[in-house]
Amino acid sequence: MNKGWKCTNCGHIHPATENLEELSFERFDALTSKTSCQNCGTYTIQRAFDDRFQSGHFLIVKARNRIRKGL
Ligand SMILES: [Zn+2]
Repeated sequence: MNKGWKCTNCGHIHPATENLEELSFERFDALTSKTSCQNCGTYTIQRAFDDRFQSGHFLIVKARNRIRKGL
């Protein structure tokens, strides 16, 4: 299990919860989901190639306003 999720932009670490509330987790369809950093607004869209989720595309959209914190 994941213990947490670290933002690649600002380094903020979000403690993991079961339903990923801390990431503003959104699911668009069975294979596509989005997580976003509540600290800086950077978000990541994950799209799996298939329902095994062993590989897929990751698109990281960084926020324009960087808020460096804790690095
Ligand atoms: Zn961030």
